[in-house]
Amino acid sequence: MSATPTEASGLRHDATATFETLCLEVMEVPVVKADLEACQGYANCVVGAEDYFDIDDDGVVVLLKTEVPQADRGRVEEAAHSCPVSALLVEDQ
Ligand code: SF4
Repeated sequence: MSATPTEASGLRHDATATFETLCLEVMEVPVVKADLEACQGYANCVVGAEDYFDIDDDGVVVLLKTEVPQADRGRVEEAAHSCPVSALLVEDQ
């Protein structure tokens, strides 16, 4: 039995590798987490990344989204590090 044109050209292998690479990238999206008990509502995080953080009516941080694409990681980490009570953490899954 002869190989299909796709197999013979190696495209099938490349497509599989690309799919696996994409899956790994999806699985490795960093996440931001908040310690709601520690939060004191200083809002430094909101100033640093208002598209990720907000403050609710009780003065506690609200995560507007938890997944942090690599393109946003630097500024979200900077915003997290600006928290005076270290209530925010950006970590790999
Ligand atoms: S900077 Fe820290 S303490 Fe202030 S609102 Fe954000 S998480 Fe809460």
